[in-house]
Amino acid sequence: MISVTEARERVLNSVKANDPVEVPLMETLGRVLAEDIVADTHIPPFDNSAMDGYALLSEDIVKATEENPVRLEVLEDLPAGYTARRSLGTGQAIRIMTGAPIPPGADAVIPVELTEREDGGVLVRRAVERGANVRKAGEDVRKGETVLSRGARVGPAEMGLLSSLGRARVMIYRAPVVGIISTGDELVPVEEELRPGKIRDSNSYTLWGMVRETGAEPLRLGIVSDDAQALRNAILDHLEEVDAFITSGGVSVGDYDIVKEVLADLGEIDFWKVSMRPGKPQAFGLIEGKPLFGLPGNPVSVMVSFEQFVRPALLKMMGSRELYRPEIEAEIETPMGRSTGRVEFIRVILREEEGKFKARVTGPQGSGILKSMALGQGLAVLGEEVGRLEPGARVRVQLLRVEPGAWRSSAT
Ligand code: AMP
Ligand code: MG
Repeated sequence: MISVTEARERVLNSVKANDPVEVPLMETLGRVLAEDIVADTHIPPFDNSAMDGYALLSEDIVKATEENPVRLEVLEDLPAGYTARRSLGTGQAIRIMTGAPIPPGADAVIPVELTEREDGGVLVRRAVERGANVRKAGEDVRKGETVLSRGARVGPAEMGLLSSLGRARVMIYRAPVVGIISTGDELVPVEEELRPGKIRDSNSYTLWGMVRETGAEPLRLGIVSDDAQALRNAILDHLEEVDAFITSGGVSVGDYDIVKEVLADLGEIDFWKVSMRPGKPQAFGLIEGKPLFGLPGNPVSVMVSFEQFVRPALLKMMGSRELYRPEIEAEIETPMGRSTGRVEFIRVILREEEGKFKARVTGPQGSGILKSMALGQGLAVLGEEVGRLEPGARVRVQLLRVEPGAWRSSAT
């Protein structure tokens, strides 16, 4: 039996980033950049107005007040998307819209609310500083600047930056294709009627979701019976097509535990027991260099093991610099943990009080209670030596959800 940390290290040491590929911008969301993005232009590309108003020379209106407004001649109206036909001299202004380029000669913009139009001119009743309401060329991004670096995940803001820089095509790491196989004679697919002794396969859906959420490409390969030959065939049939396999079930000690057998036969087993709860039995190894994660069958064990081993590995294969969920520290409000000598992952509901996190167990923590994962927002991690904890104790919590309503402050 090896520790969670050692198992994770071994897994991470056996995988590497996929090759880079060039894809259209629209295919980059959730993927990881395989190149540094260096700006070849300023953003914004030119000085432009931050307001609807009048472009002018700040010096012309230093003395402008409510009582003694300054009158400027208005040369033209300049909407966004066009350049001024004339340059501006002393005593002159150009009506300008947000985003339009600052006309040559102007050094500030006065917002329209502080002015009054008068036929052929404008009355200004207040002074503005040089540079007021002007967005300078390059104030967001400077030409030559490294805006995004290799290993960064592309989100909506990154897509916006890439498009501002004219990057219609981008180098990313190819997303790993992950084949998902459920094992067990008891399993039936979701569309089918339950017969005596059968249960519906849930793991392949959970895993599909987790792989997808990680940013990799899940491929459900169906259910195979507790038969080594069937599993071997399912693996060999898809070996070309996938970068990794995840199986669930068939790894505990028993007559029907076939994953280890097939893995040992087709490739090499690295480990099959990890000192954790839930999730002690699990197999990991390589088949022709491709990782196979043989996760336990119990639905919670699947998710917890995925979080600890598969997710970081997929992120590494995707080229990501960051491999782990954020962790917080929380004070527990309910007793939790048992003395098992293994690391325990307890599903907790979080709330925030006066800037501090509080955690309570979701309820029964059996490895078959999948509801606990739906209720839980995090996994409290109790070290091997910790045992039973009473309210008031502090724990580390891996955050599984950061989404609207994930936790509420007690004020709301
Ligand atoms: P195993 O690791 O194969 O001994 O399975 C442990 C437990 O998980 C058993 O109760 C199985 O019925 C259950 N199980 C295995 N695979 C699945 C699955 N794909 N969906 C739901 N439950 C499963
Ligand atoms: Mg089984």
